[in-house]
Amino acid sequence: MSVIEEVVSLFEQGGSQAYFGERVTQLQHALQCAHCATQAGADPELVAAALLHDVGHLLGGNLQADIGVIDHDRSCVEWLRARGFSTRLIGLVSGHVAAKRYLVATQTAYRDRLSEASIRTLALQGGAMSAEEVAAFEAGPYFRDLLRLRAWDEAAKDPSRTVPGLDHYASAIRAALS
Ligand code: FE
Repeated sequence: MSVIEEVVSLFEQGGSQAYFGERVTQLQHALQCAHCATQAGADPELVAAALLHDVGHLLGGNLQADIGVIDHDRSCVEWLRARGFSTRLIGLVSGHVAAKRYLVATQTAYRDRLSEASIRTLALQGGAMSAEEVAAFEAGPYFRDLLRLRAWDEAAKDPSRTVPGLDHYASAIRAALS
C-alpha cells in the first residue's frame, strides 16, 4: 500500500468519528484545516501537515473518552517517520499542541476563543507554557508555521462547510515525503 493509500484508509476507518467535543468529524476537520492552509497560500508540505495534524487520533493509542488520544501530537511521530514523512512535516504535526500552549501563555484573548473541548484538553496537555518554554518555542524552526497551522486548526470546526475531498491532497502528501 502506498503512503497515500494508507492515509486514505486511515480516514476511511476512523474519519467519520466525531472530532472530540466538536460538531465536525475527524475527516471534515482535517479537510477544512487543509483547505484553510491552501487558501492562505501555504506550501504543499504545510498543507499536508494541516491535513495530517491530528492523525494521532486516527492511529489510536492512549484513548480517553470525549478527549481522544492523549499525546496525539507525539504518538504519531513513529508512524509518520516510518512512512518517510519529512522532518518539517513531523515537526509541524508534533508541535501543534505546543502552539496552543504557547498562544494561551502569550495572548490573553486566545484562551477565550478556544472551544470548550479545547480548553478541557489544555490542562492535560500541560497548560500554558512557562516563560522558558515560550522562549524555546519562539526560537524553534517552525515557529511561524505552527502559529499559522494553529489558526487553521481552530477554524476547521464548522459543521456547515463543504470543502474539497481527500483526493485533492495526493500531491501535497507526496511533497511532504522526504
Ligand atoms: Fe485539530
